[in-house]
Amino acid sequence: MLGEGILKGLAETARNFAGSYVSRERLTTVQYPEERVAPIEAARVFPFLVYDGADWEAGLRCVACQICEKECPPKCIYIEKSKDKKPDYVGKLQIYPARFDIDVSVCMSCQICVEVCPFEAIKMDTEFELATDNRFGGLLHDRKQLAKSNEYFHTIHPTEASEVDARLAEEKAKVEAKAKAAAEAAAAKAAAGAAPAATPGDKPAGGGE
Ligand code: SF4
Ligand code: SF4
Repeated sequence: MLGEGILKGLAETARNFAGSYVSRERLTTVQYPEERVAPIEAARVFPFLVYDGADWEAGLRCVACQICEKECPPKCIYIEKSKDKKPDYVGKLQIYPARFDIDVSVCMSCQICVEVCPFEAIKMDTEFELATDNRFGGLLHDRKQLAKSNEYFHTIHPTEASEVDARLAEEKAKVEAKAKAAAEAAAAKAAAGAAPAATPGDKPAGGGE
């Protein structure tokens, strides 16, 4: 029937409105900011940069590959690459972002930056109380403002953060196993090269006369 969906929606609203006077469950709003709804794990607001360890600057996972900057639909990410390198989570020397800004007044919370990042370096925050009276740059967040620890990531998105940790640990184990195998192969090759070469007059060991 034409308009059936509208009538159903209005009926639901009326049921909640009348029901909210007698049943707490029908009350779908709270008296913000005195009251707050419990945080939802799947909530997403604006992105933040994840860092490991105690030092935000040294621990940033971002390697300034700029994929997120290119893929961001409204182009609100700005990155400048470093001139030097620092070790990443597997110890490989990587470039890092000397500058990483997000204009959250432009960000549309689409999460594309998170999905395209190959390094699990950028995730969605649940913090939404960011209002400021500074119209010029107040919502342009730099890398220090964007940096948040992996422990914080675990508190807001525990399921996702645990999956990411497991994935990174697996990758690290693979890299370490490969490095160990390469080191063993190199050591074996060096040992073979160091063994004295047999001279033509030498008799084979154990060969009786
Ligand atoms: S959430 Fe979307 S709009 Fe916001 S920074 Fe990421 S890619 Fe850009
Ligand atoms: S956040 Fe991820 S995708 Fe963006 S520059 Fe850093 S490593 Fe690359």
